[in-house]
Amino acid sequence: MLTRNFRQGRIIFARLDHGEDIIRQFTILAEENGIETGALSAIGALSSAILACYDQSSHEYGKIALNEPVEMASCSGNISLKDGRPFVHAHAVLSEKTARTWGGHLISGTIFAGEVYIQELSGSLPLKRVADSVTGLYLWGNE
Ligand code: ZN
Repeated sequence: MLTRNFRQGRIIFARLDHGEDIIRQFTILAEENGIETGALSAIGALSSAILACYDQSSHEYGKIALNEPVEMASCSGNISLKDGRPFVHAHAVLSEKTARTWGGHLISGTIFAGEVYIQELSGSLPLKRVADSVTGLYLWGNE
């Protein structure tokens, strides 16, 4: 198990821009604020989204496109470094008007309205993602 002990740094609240991609907006916030390691939580609504589930056998993401407005009932994730730049990993639970929900790895989403909370973590070496041969994913490593 890889562990790091951080201290709480800045807390950033932001209203996301209408019509922009949510993962890109999270990444811009991290880049503009110099956040290398952090946690995030967001709520709001998306006009469309792509969720994914990782196939543990084939090591490929199966994608589900939601081409309709959805409520972002929950979105949580983290920020760490990949190839020296902030990388956002986020999951979301999205619901439509009947409250039927979908959940999974959030690939992208077009923002209708969104509010995000980012907690900067500091006081330790930043977490860095490295290729993991067992899972085929980029996981936190010791580099
Ligand atoms: Zn994921």
